[in-house]
Amino acid sequence: MPSVLKMLLEVDEHTAAILDGQSRIANWLYNRLLEEANELRRRFRQTQDPAVGKVLYTERGLRDRVPALKKERPFLRTVYSSVLKNAALRLSGAIRKYQKARREKGASSVGWPKFRSWKREWFSLQYDEPWKGYRLEGRKPEVSLGKVLDEGTGKEKQAQVTAHLAEPLPDWFEPGMVRQLRIVKEGKLFYAVFTVRRPVPARRPVGRVIAIDPNHKNLGYGVGTDGVATEIQNPWFLKILDRRIDELKSLRDRCKRKSVRVVREDGTEAWLPSRRWRKLNERLDELWRVRREQTKTYLRTVANRLYREYDGVFVGDYTPHGGGISRGMRRAMNNQSLIGRFKKTLKWTATRSGKVYGEWDEDGSTRSCHACHYEVPGGIPPEVREWTCPECGTHHIRDENSATNGLEQVLNNLEVPGSGRLGDKIVVTTRRAWRFDGLGIQEIPGIVGGRVGDHAAGRQEIK
Ligand SMILES: [Zn+2]
Repeated sequence: MPSVLKMLLEVDEHTAAILDGQSRIANWLYNRLLEEANELRRRFRQTQDPAVGKVLYTERGLRDRVPALKKERPFLRTVYSSVLKNAALRLSGAIRKYQKARREKGASSVGWPKFRSWKREWFSLQYDEPWKGYRLEGRKPEVSLGKVLDEGTGKEKQAQVTAHLAEPLPDWFEPGMVRQLRIVKEGKLFYAVFTVRRPVPARRPVGRVIAIDPNHKNLGYGVGTDGVATEIQNPWFLKILDRRIDELKSLRDRCKRKSVRVVREDGTEAWLPSRRWRKLNERLDELWRVRREQTKTYLRTVANRLYREYDGVFVGDYTPHGGGISRGMRRAMNNQSLIGRFKKTLKWTATRSGKVYGEWDEDGSTRSCHACHYEVPGGIPPEVREWTCPECGTHHIRDENSATNGLEQVLNNLEVPGSGRLGDKIVVTTRRAWRFDGLGIQEIPGIVGGRVGDHAAGRQEIK
């Protein structure tokens, strides 16, 4: 299973300058080849010359132009060959993507490639073969540059730079897994991005299973075959961040989006946002970035914890009802995308650890009593958190009942050795809540109907 391993690099100023230089040259080559491609395109349109088409539209046509360019422009030789090759391949890839979209969709939805501004986007350095042009000595990656003149011998030699991985490699990492390496720069930070192919671990038989009912207030409420009910709370920082995002957004939107009139060289005019708008927008972007990072850590921590305790995790397929715009809608939408990301994280964690991820059909799960399967006509309004089945008299915690229905559905569809014979009743014996504090998960006694269980032991036992 191919995946990427992105590692922050520590580089000194000198190395950073060298890497910047390499990236600039690769960027230059891309633009130079694009100039050529634009000319070839013009010519091909006039002449339909197949020789021209071959350079322009094949996978390696432009790459084969690199050696001649290297002779013409000796500075290209200071960059490692596969990095140059990949600048050409990237352009050919973009052209072919454009062609393909045109063929398939008629009108083009993918644009012809544009010149790249190095200042706007750092051109990544790609080493596309396993351990060719780069090495790893402990935590020190070394990447090859091009040829430089050795002043001692007067001969050309291969130049290298060394960086340092800011973090240790994960324990599953083995050099044999590496397919390629990309050096990228985001803001002022350099990263080594390894593409790795990891063997998929054999699937273990499913023992313990949990079904999770995602909801608006929390990430979800789960019921497991171990009789434990778990409320997975959203972290406190989300609320604070969302409030700040809302405030900033309304401040920004009060500023004029079109405030500064500029006249272009060709006489046409355009409007730019005010300085204040741009400033607020920048801060808003930063908050969104922080939110993404923090939720990522949160979701990973929860997923790891779940798979430490369970072999199979199944999440309700939660499809939001369209329609009316309510006040809480944006918030609900934020949570929806969080649940979407949660599912992806679970899936990924499951594959990585040889465990099982799945979804269950939520339709009708809230309004059906898990004890007698009576369906409450018209459903249960969202504000009703607890209810009593009119048919059998069982008292239900709303989310726990629907998660229990989910678990029953999962067990009916799944061979679960030892735990899931059809028709077995699932009994919740313990309730707990998981609270993420930014670093790890705190387990606290379950909260039911706003009342905290009186057991201080961390779990609430149910008689
Ligand atoms: Zn009932």
